[in-house]
Amino acid sequence: MPYCDHNATAPLRPEAREAVMRALSLTGNPSSVHAGGRAARAMVEEAREAVARLAGAKAEVVIFTSGATEANALALWGAAEAAADAGNPITRLLVSAIEHKSVLKTAEAVAEHMNIRLEIVPVTADGVVDAKALTALLRGEGRALVAVMAANNETGVVQPVAEISRLCRDAGALLLVDAVTAAGKIPLDAGLCDYMTLSGHKLGAPQGVGALIVSETAPLAAQLVGGGQQKGLRAGTENLSGIAGLGAAAKAVLANDEECAHLAALRGHFERALKEAVPEAVIFGANAPRLPNTSNVALPGLAAENMVIALDLDGMMVSSGSSCSSGKIAASHVLAAMGVSDLSSVRISFGWNSLPDDANAVVASLVKLWQRARPRVAA
Ligand code: PLP
Repeated sequence: MPYCDHNATAPLRPEAREAVMRALSLTGNPSSVHAGGRAARAMVEEAREAVARLAGAKAEVVIFTSGATEANALALWGAAEAAADAGNPITRLLVSAIEHKSVLKTAEAVAEHMNIRLEIVPVTADGVVDAKALTALLRGEGRALVAVMAANNETGVVQPVAEISRLCRDAGALLLVDAVTAAGKIPLDAGLCDYMTLSGHKLGAPQGVGALIVSETAPLAAQLVGGGQQKGLRAGTENLSGIAGLGAAAKAVLANDEECAHLAALRGHFERALKEAVPEAVIFGANAPRLPNTSNVALPGLAAENMVIALDLDGMMVSSGSSCSSGKIAASHVLAAMGVSDLSSVRISFGWNSLPDDANAVVASLVKLWQRARPRVAA
């Protein structure tokens, strides 16, 4: 079955599967001093090195978590609490309108519980964070923490992180970059921000593992305390098999220039074929720089739910809206922020094992649906 939902979760890469199996066959707590413990520790540290290389950071600043939801929460709560404890509190959270809900909802909770002002940074019609609006917001009083993702999970639109980093540095603001969707598709540079987050299952590692990369100078208070693992910043016995899988996937995507070129060609082919058959098709974010794998398309008058179900009946897996709301189709806050009035679209996201036949099959199914629905839509 064509699987075109890599931004929701990517199939396990063979390299990651092999690393997971190796880790599962090993007995030892990475904190134990005996030989089994040392072997487990070596696996964790090898993965830490690989994740650091992927993020453009040093291994010492990588903290493994249960996924990007936890990593985003650790960054936001951890920054706010540590900054307050150090007497230099964060007084404003400036969060882009297109962040993943794990950032938006956590920012709302942090703002409410810690009496911090939450301000939403708008995006342009192309889905790019509005740097002018951010500049104006950064002129406000008090210390700010800004959250802007490296690339959006629904549209694939790449955000101007280097420019935003400069604006934040000039204003003395902290910066959180959710690099979940961008990782493995464009180069990352954790040196541009204070906090960067990653998720294993978007890279071809298992679900339930991720990482926070935190700059050495950024405030961070632990949210899970106990055994003192990971320098006391994230207690809990490390998820050895997940971490080993994440490390292997990170290594694989660091050497994937060919894969990215293939994805760009595949996405280009998909969009050209769709537009040729259905000139009315709308591709969101098409005028902005985008990740090579993602296409967010609307066929005017067709509901997202109908498109997803019709594709599923034809044996194709795609998403509507953000990955975490797959299954319960809700209006997209990302398209709403871009000023799109008809919020019904499907997201096709290709990945490491996608084939031209997958793209052709999705186009054929969408065209069939469009032809069936056209008389009704036109009426
Ligand atoms: N950030 C983005 C951009 C995502 O797409 C997701 C998952 O869909 C997350 C964060 C949360 O990641 P996880 O599933 O590892 O908690």
